[in-house]
Amino acid sequence: METDITVTILGSGTCVPSLARSSCSVLTETGKSKILIDCGPGTMRRLLENGTEIYEISHLLLSHFHPDHTGELPAFLFANKYPDGNRRKIPLSIIAGKGISDFYAGLKKVYGSWIDLEPNRLNIIELPHKKNVLNFKDIILESVPVEHNEESLAFRITGNAGCSFVYSGDTDFCDSLIDIALDTNLFICESALPDELKVKGHLTPSVAGEIAAKAKVKKLILTHFYPECDKVDIELQCRKTYSGPLFLARDLMKIDLAPS
Ligand SMILES: [Zn+2]
Ligand SMILES: [Zn+2]
Repeated sequence: METDITVTILGSGTCVPSLARSSCSVLTETGKSKILIDCGPGTMRRLLENGTEIYEISHLLLSHFHPDHTGELPAFLFANKYPDGNRRKIPLSIIAGKGISDFYAGLKKVYGSWIDLEPNRLNIIELPHKKNVLNFKDIILESVPVEHNEESLAFRITGNAGCSFVYSGDTDFCDSLIDIALDTNLFICESALPDELKVKGHLTPSVAGEIAAKAKVKKLILTHFYPECDKVDIELQCRKTYSGPLFLARDLMKIDLAPS
């Protein structure tokens, strides 16, 4: 069967500098569209390592505004101006939750025209703080609020052939996440810290596994690993609650989704 969606983990890490784990970012390729989810520091370097040019990205989804998910945004916009702004032939839509317009206006106050794109090449789309569905050329994009910051969203992307994946963003346990992940082909879920170091607003392997089991996802990838995670058996902790196919994210890991 032909691939419907290719997902590449660009960054499986956090705010902590790491050569192995860049900050959060995921690339989605489906049809002729390339969609970036989150843009933490190091994203452009990982895109290059993946053979992807920044000018090819048509949509940039931001799960929330913490710097490990958005820190490279000004540099990304600035880089689009090189050498004269015309290498970008398609518009870039930045899509995020409540406050993205103010967030961008704040960046504009600091960076001014350095982060302007050519006329009609940049759209800012602010999603309402409720379950939402948008139809684009190659994807259906669904979003729901999750438990982290007030703007935090989880995303579900469905391709032309009906395959889907869900990206949790940063979150604590919540029913909305189970809801949006229901029966998805691939669930990319944050698992920031080991079970014994659980903090409010983040998941651990066994809680992520519980959500995946309740949502009956077909495949689970855990990601967003603080260094503490690399010192324990994350897989074993997740197996307390989830028995399906399980992978631990690594930078530049690739997953193809095809209709079965
Ligand atoms: Zn966060
Ligand atoms: Zn984070």
